[in-house]
Amino acid sequence: MVIRKKFSSKYEAGWSDADELLLCLDTGSWRTKRPVVDKEKCNYCGLCALYCPPQCMLNLEDYFAPNLDFCKGCGICAKECSRGAIAMVPEGEFADEGAKR
Ligand code: SF4
Ligand code: SF4
Repeated sequence: MVIRKKFSSKYEAGWSDADELLLCLDTGSWRTKRPVVDKEKCNYCGLCALYCPPQCMLNLEDYFAPNLDFCKGCGICAKECSRGAIAMVPEGEFADEGAKR
């Protein structure tokens, strides 16, 4: 399926035909809240990936999840998810995982 193949690009997002890495912005350290995806609620529609400004939602084949190296915690994915599958959780709740990714 073409859309799935596009989502799988390791270089850029679904809209791009890039075959080289074009964008490398380590924005994960900006985050105050982290999007957490409930895999049971996710229907793999891909809207979160389409709307994510830095295009950092990863296609994990049956659900999507953020690449935390780049996710800046804007919360747009959570707003756009019609299934309510994404919760924005304060980074402080992950403090025991060490430094932010
Ligand atoms: S928008 Fe919601 S339901 Fe759709 S892929 Fe993203 S997390 Fe899953
Ligand atoms: S919080 Fe913002 S940057 Fe992070 S995955 Fe969602 S839309 Fe993308």
